[in-house]
Amino acid sequence: MHDLAQAIFESYPSLTFEDPSPPPREASRPFSPDLHPSTDETNIFFREYQPLSVINPWMRLLQSLFPTHVRMISIGISYEGREIPALRVGVHPTNAEKPSGPRKTIIVAGGSHAREWISTSSVNYAAYSFITAYGRSKSMTQLIEAFDWIFIPTLNPDGYAYTWENDRLWRKNRQQTALRFCKGVDLDRSYGFEWDSESTKNNPCSESFAGESPFEGAEARRFANWVRNETENNNAQFVGFLDFHSYSQQVLYPYSYTCTSAPPSLENLEELAIGLAKAIRVTSGEFYGVTSACEGSVTISPDGKDCPPRQDKPKDEKKLWPRMETGGGSALDWFYHELKVSYAYQIKLRDTGSYGFLLPSKNIVPTGKEAFAAVEYFGQFLMGNKGIEDIEPGVNEAADLSKPIELVGEQKEDWVVVAREPEMSSDDYEAETVNSELRRRRRR
Ligand SMILES: [Zn+2]
Repeated sequence: MHDLAQAIFESYPSLTFEDPSPPPREASRPFSPDLHPSTDETNIFFREYQPLSVINPWMRLLQSLFPTHVRMISIGISYEGREIPALRVGVHPTNAEKPSGPRKTIIVAGGSHAREWISTSSVNYAAYSFITAYGRSKSMTQLIEAFDWIFIPTLNPDGYAYTWENDRLWRKNRQQTALRFCKGVDLDRSYGFEWDSESTKNNPCSESFAGESPFEGAEARRFANWVRNETENNNAQFVGFLDFHSYSQQVLYPYSYTCTSAPPSLENLEELAIGLAKAIRVTSGEFYGVTSACEGSVTISPDGKDCPPRQDKPKDEKKLWPRMETGGGSALDWFYHELKVSYAYQIKLRDTGSYGFLLPSKNIVPTGKEAFAAVEYFGQFLMGNKGIEDIEPGVNEAADLSKPIELVGEQKEDWVVVAREPEMSSDDYEAETVNSELRRRRRR
């Protein structure tokens, strides 16, 4: 990358810079939940990165379109008052003779670091692929019956909004620190297991600032509380955690906080990690490395420093290098060690450094397919289908956007984008200035 400003510019939806006229109002954004044939390239939601004001209505739309197996839920409220939205995808087969034990649940999360937009789009892509495969693919339907899937595209909604409105390369959340001019806690250093503030405690301005105590990061605390509450009060048993980040194309397993202590189930973790990398490679040909997160997080930059300077100074490609990401207090370790989730991974998506966090939008669909391949393999592995290559050839693919979606459980309807209606004004998403709402409406 030669021109950082240009790369940032180009990572926003093209409409805002190709069109010389003023950008359209949100209400006229060209997103329509078109159920008619479209291709990957023309599916407008995945053609560009999307702001919260589009992602949240899109999630609600999926819930209305697929009420049999999709529910939009909230993980909690962010520091600035936004919802942390999620899609719960699952079907509980009713079988009165079988006493229902805890519901096995798998979390697929992204957007913990605000600028890693590809993690958010990829979680959405994987969710969409799961949701639209239900009832069409036998093996995918089995996965949705066997587990509840929680897709959380924006764990850090305040930071994500900030990357759209102010600073494309913002990483942390947006909460106040002791230093007035340095906001933000690094959510992936906020969790309570082996929390370590040593390197950043005197520097709230640090991009990896861990806060002053464990779980000070508001969204990390909310997420952990939600998970505990689901476990204790909602009959959920969390069996898998996939935390998508970018960039460097790596599948990372615990521990993140140290390389000197091996996780008790090291071989199992490695086995599935290699399977995830293989599932990706079979899908796209892209190579994802497999290593312990402690090794993946310590990356030496070409100039020999292990923590390269912040990447907002252009024209020096050497500085665009995978930075030290995790360490103590990571979500990965907390889920694995504290919550006893047997299979927990952090997957760093594309690329390997050419564009880094400013990955061009043409990568959204190909990277989404890689993420979906990994998530699907993950489910198959947990169902006991180890080493599975493709148990249902031609069907187990990412959402084929060139085919019309089969609605499950209700008739096809025509859909139009209409202005937000008054009864929606009490909605919880007001903070994001949602100017439009995608509402379904029968034409006849
Ligand atoms: Zn990250």
